[in-house]
Amino acid sequence: MKIHAAVTTRDNPFTIAPVEIGEPQAGECLVELEACGICHTDLTAASGALGTPQPIVLGHEGVGHIVATGPGEHEFAVGDRVVLSFGACGQCSPCQHHTPSYCEQAALLNLAGCRADGSTALSRSGEPLAAHFFSQSSFATHAVARTTNMVKVGSDLPAELLAPLGCGVMTGMSSVMNVLAPAPGSRIAIFGCGTVGLAAVMAARLSGCGEIIAVDLNPQRTELACELGATRGVVPGRDDLAALVTELGGLHYAFDCTSHPAVIEQALGLLSQRGVLVCAGLPGTHAPLQVDPLALVFKGLTIRGTVEGDADPRQFIPRMLDWYRQGELPLEKLVSRYDFADIENAVAAMKAGDAIKPVLMMPDQN
Ligand SMILES: [Zn+2]
Ligand SMILES: [Zn+2]
Repeated sequence: MKIHAAVTTRDNPFTIAPVEIGEPQAGECLVELEACGICHTDLTAASGALGTPQPIVLGHEGVGHIVATGPGEHEFAVGDRVVLSFGACGQCSPCQHHTPSYCEQAALLNLAGCRADGSTALSRSGEPLAAHFFSQSSFATHAVARTTNMVKVGSDLPAELLAPLGCGVMTGMSSVMNVLAPAPGSRIAIFGCGTVGLAAVMAARLSGCGEIIAVDLNPQRTELACELGATRGVVPGRDDLAALVTELGGLHYAFDCTSHPAVIEQALGLLSQRGVLVCAGLPGTHAPLQVDPLALVFKGLTIRGTVEGDADPRQFIPRMLDWYRQGELPLEKLVSRYDFADIENAVAAMKAGDAIKPVLMMPDQN
């Protein structure tokens, strides 16, 4: 079948072109996409930093309807509306224990540009085209996705709000809810107010944190964070974060989405006794972190990373939908809609900080 997909090479990051898509295999479905969010990981992959082969079709926040199922499929049917999340095998120990972001095949099923057997569903002029990014490759009108990364959703919610639940919003919310699990009344600081950080702010508010400090270089972002539940917005260079935190008595929790070593080191230094720092940013380079072992020991600090906030999408996406329906997740404040044809403008707006979560709307296929 002929479809349209944004093909990424380092020189031409997102060029929409006609490509061929094959039939879904066992454990896969063909999804006609309604929308796909753009995540920073797409841009990191486009830069070549993640080692994905190129040319490739990226995109890993797809939402759409199943139009064909693989052989022997019992769980999903044609017509099901699904949110696509990250790839996981569904069989290994982490997958069986509801931590699929640590799947033993995670690198293969998310970043290798092919299926586990090395094949790919996409081709161009008869040549195989790398795909299966996060087991989906949703910068396209259609995607062959693994059923292990599909979550059924209702027809009542707009596609542009569902798309980012598959990665960015889930990562921020689950990092707070599942990894940090902050005590009510506690003090948390969130470093970086993109989609992940702002989702973390919403989760901290839902968790009943007493102080939620949102830190970002962009004052518009910290203002939005305050609308979403942050108690204070801090702009480095304008405000004195260290003085504020000292006055409050230190942080119980810190959450970093910037992946900058200097920010992470500062966050660690602001923790009070037995404080916990969680890092969710994906650095484009391998810069070392300097940690004072004396402070680490004497203060009983914890520092850890997380992939996708340790979430099991099948459990966590339905929880986010409940919060949205209860009016607790104003996702529309994060999302900007773009036509798929405007993907280059959407990426540029994201890089410039003008769009927090650009979501590409696929052309109507009917
Ligand atoms: Zn697995
Ligand atoms: Zn992502």
